[in-house]
This record gives sequence, C-alpha cells and structure tokens, in this order.
Amino acid sequence: MNINLNPDIARERLIKKLRDKGITDEHVLEAFRKVPRHLFVDGAMYAQAYDDNALPIGFGQTISQPYIVALMSELLELKKDEKILEIGTGSGFQAAILAQFSRRVYTIERNRELGETARKRLRSMGYENIVFKTGDGTCGWAQFAPFNKIIVTAGAPVVPQTLSDQLAIGGRMIIPTGDRKNQCLSIYDKTEQGMEYHSVGDVVFVPLIGEHGWEK
Ligand code: SAM
Repeated sequence: MNINLNPDIARERLIKKLRDKGITDEHVLEAFRKVPRHLFVDGAMYAQAYDDNALPIGFGQTISQPYIVALMSELLELKKDEKILEIGTGSGFQAAILAQFSRRVYTIERNRELGETARKRLRSMGYENIVFKTGDGTCGWAQFAPFNKIIVTAGAPVVPQTLSDQLAIGGRMIIPTGDRKNQCLSIYDKTEQGMEYHSVGDVVFVPLIGEHGWEK
C-alpha cells in the first residue's frame, strides 16, 4: 500500500481490515484513526506503515502487527479512568493507542535508545498522559502499582509473579507466554480468589528479556 499518495486513505483501509478481522471496539478503531503509524517507523518504511504487518524498529525489535495491537487493546476492555502498565515500549505506538482512552499509561522499555526515541516522539506529538521508564519491565513499576490493566508486548516464559502482584483486584493482564519464538496470548483476570485464565490464540513476539523473563 503506497501511503505517499494519501495516508488518510491508507489508514481507513487498515481500519476496514481490522473490522473485517473481528475488531469491534469503536474506541480502539477510533484510536487507530488518530495515531499516525507512519510516524512510528523509519522513513524508508512509510509505504508499508499501514499494511497489517510487524515492521523492524532497530536493535532486532519490532513495532507489532496492527491487528495484534488492536486485539490486545480491545481485550483490555479499557475504561477512561484507568491506569495501565505496558511492558515493552518499542516504538511507542501501542502506548499512543492506549493513551487515547485511558487515564495514564506507564510504559517500560529495556533498550535505552528505543525508549528514549519513543519518549521524544510521543512528547513531540503532544502526549501528556504517558510516563516512561528505561529498565527491566519484568519487575513492574511498584511505585505506581496497583494497575487496573497490564499489557506485555514481548513473549514471556511464564507470567512474572511481580506483574501479578502489581495488578489490582478486578484488573486484567494480557500477556503472550510460551517459548522464545512462539507464544499463546492469554488473559488473566485477578479476583479475590486468585487469577482466572483464558487463552486467546497463538502469536509470535520477540522475547521478554529480564530477571523474571528470558535470559539475554
Ligand atoms: N509495544 C511496542 C510498539 O508498539 O512498538 C512493540 C514492542 S516490541 C514487540 C517488544 C519490546 O519489548 C522491544 O522493544 C523490547 O526491547 C522490549 N522488551 C523486551 N524485554 C523487556 C523487558 N524486560 N522490559 C521492558 N521491555 C522489554
């Protein structure tokens, strides 16, 4: 798809594709209308920015496939006044989508350069409700816990206990778990009695590296 002709048309086509694939949450679809994905990739990849594919962002990392970003955002069932923790800032695109319809997004990236680039990008775009940290997201962000929602955008071997502990009762975590190459996307709902688990389907994410994730 060549967005040099018209990014608005390319974006609308992507939104139609997301609808066709089953995304129904209008807040999520509207967020995709508002966040220009081509500004989150290298200029050489502008033409592919509205294809439904993951794209490289450097350091062996990726901006996730739009459908997966939309699906995970929809599964979070966000409400306006909620606090979200995202592990794996990457390009900052997922954080920008979530920031459209939540109170505050706390996002952690282990790669300093990626995190800094995303921070500058989102600040220059005017986002004031995203808080950034460089570090190991598998340890969570105790200072701001508990979180209403947690989204992990890298593949973990298991659900880090630290993240479960930092999820509020009544809260939800979306996380891919499995081996280093293939994972299953899962929903964990935290109740007074413990965690309730639902599996969504197979996904492919880069590995979550850290104390409660994979070794480097
Ligand atoms: N959400 C991102 C976006 O919208 O562009 C895509 C995330 S990319 C698939 C996964 C990111 O997780 C990479 O940038 C990687 O460096 C980061 N990551 C891996 N392990 C991490 C950890 N323990 N803490 C924080 N970030 C981590």
